[in-house]
Amino acid sequence: MKKYILLLIATVMCTLSLSAQDLHTLDKELPCINKTFSVYFHVTLDSLRTTSWDVAAMEGQIAVTNQYFAPICAQFELCQIDTIENWSWDSLSRDYRVDEINRLFYEENRINIYLVDRFDDPTLCGFANSAIDNEADAKIYLSGGCLPHEMGHMFGLLHTFEGNGVENVNGSNCETVGDLICDTPSDPYVQGSDIQWLGENCEFIFTGTDINGEFYQPDVGNIMSYYGCDCGFTRGQYLKMANKWLDGTRKMW
Ligand SMILES: [Zn+2]
Repeated sequence: MKKYILLLIATVMCTLSLSAQDLHTLDKELPCINKTFSVYFHVTLDSLRTTSWDVAAMEGQIAVTNQYFAPICAQFELCQIDTIENWSWDSLSRDYRVDEINRLFYEENRINIYLVDRFDDPTLCGFANSAIDNEADAKIYLSGGCLPHEMGHMFGLLHTFEGNGVENVNGSNCETVGDLICDTPSDPYVQGSDIQWLGENCEFIFTGTDINGEFYQPDVGNIMSYYGCDCGFTRGQYLKMANKWLDGTRKMW
């Protein structure tokens, strides 16, 4: 019961924050991509020819991604699903054979998403090793519900904790370090560290300070953070994503 209540609180907090963001974007116009991207899911099967991914889960990932990308008029639609029967691909390694699987199954003019039950690194939810606007294939590898985050990478965003808090809390060097976006506060998060960053309700409790002795106050609800309290992107992140596509020469289709 306790867990249920906490979940409810987190949901309510997130809903409020999204509404605030909607109002914000109404005030200041964002560029409009005005495009629906076709998504092709490739589902890898394990040795028993099963997968934890079903169509509802895929549609759920598309729906939540559409919600987050709506302010820049980018939408995604599930256009095709196939299965990959070679069981050894159900636990892909980030550095191992991802190029091989892509070479065999990639389809042009789609965002190709490879779904696995787990990666060999069990903490990894997904990764996107290509950008939406360049000549490399548009592809994402996913084991869990982090499609909005990976799509953020594909549209040019870095993690909010890039540089692990090297950005000053006062933002004075925000254009040259960190995620290079000034409306995302400095984020000291370190991947793999056993530091306790958050309290029970997503409140930031780490008491480390930056080079000026100021306490960090990262946006724990930012999609590009690793705190898992996902609420949204900032205006600066939306601008970067929209311009990545609008300034790019490759339009895919
Ligand atoms: Zn990431």
